[in-house]
Amino acid sequence: AKEQGKSRSVRYSADMDDRAAEDARLGADLLQAMLSQDQLFLLYQPVVRLPHGDIAGVEALIRWRHPERGLVSPVEFIPVAERNGMIVQLGDWVLREACRQMAEWRRLHGDGAPSRVGVNVSARQLREPAFARTVADVLAETGLRPDDLLVEITETAVFDDGPAVETVAAIQALGVAIALDDFGTGHSSLGLLRTCPVDVLKVDKLFVEEVTGTAEQAAIATSLAQIAQALGLRAVAEGVETPAQAMRLYQMGYRLAQGYHFSRPLSAEDLGGLLAAEGRDPDTWEPPALAG
Ligand code: C2E
Ligand code: MG
Ligand code: MG
Ligand code: MG
Repeated sequence: AKEQGKSRSVRYSADMDDRAAEDARLGADLLQAMLSQDQLFLLYQPVVRLPHGDIAGVEALIRWRHPERGLVSPVEFIPVAERNGMIVQLGDWVLREACRQMAEWRRLHGDGAPSRVGVNVSARQLREPAFARTVADVLAETGLRPDDLLVEITETAVFDDGPAVETVAAIQALGVAIALDDFGTGHSSLGLLRTCPVDVLKVDKLFVEEVTGTAEQAAIATSLAQIAQALGLRAVAEGVETPAQAMRLYQMGYRLAQGYHFSRPLSAEDLGGLLAAEGRDPDTWEPPALAG
């Protein structure tokens, strides 16, 4: 038992060293990526209206093309950036770049531009006292209206944290909409609706996957649509992958959805092409997902 305990503690600290070393490596590369011009970029995934699938908004999603590792998922490097604090600078860049792109679509497509761009914001960013001010500055610099922007936060980011909730309230007071992302997967999803100002619930893919199952399986997605409606919030179904799911969600009362069924995240250029196509021929334009 003594031997076992010893080897376990060795293995444990080796894991810790591994993670620290991997964090340090990725962190150094990420710093390099932030300084270089072309490794980091944003993709934009349409958020569509049901049932027709026309584009209501887009969500900005960061990508990193690492010179040796290839495409690194944000699921991998965002936590590293959160741990080493780089997320503050990285998050500022994402916000600026997404707003700059949105302003360009407005110039190019007018009313045909997406009505909002969603930007994911980390817990760590909400803990920066100046963050609401940064949002106001970026809107002013890019000339966007506050309601062109949607800030996506997760439940864990604001859970049990007074200052973060105050920052969220300050951002909302600017006229920027707030979405609770991955709704239903955190620790205090419903409790949070009483303390944190929210305009949009993004219902997690986990619940969307079950909408075509039994009534019991679909019950959470059904209830979340009702809760959103009762509270005057908009609900977005995340991770919609099939026509059957889209149909069921519409029947349940969902009017906004996002997922591979409608579109994968696209480059700014490809998204611009989609907007141009939609604007050119509104009567015959077929949403990409329904076409394919
Ligand atoms: P999220 O904000 O919940 O974004 C939705 C994720 O689901 C995206 O993954 C998107 O590509 C993926 N997705 C969309 N539709 C489908 C579908 O039909 N099926 C499946 N399986 N997946 C779908 P992605 O881009 O890998 O981002 C993962 C997470 O990384 C995001 O989850 C968000 O939490 C975080 N993230 C991404 N960009 C940023 C950023 O700029 N800042 C911060 N702080 N976090 C970010
Ligand atoms: Mg999101
Ligand atoms: Mg989400
Ligand atoms: Mg998610």
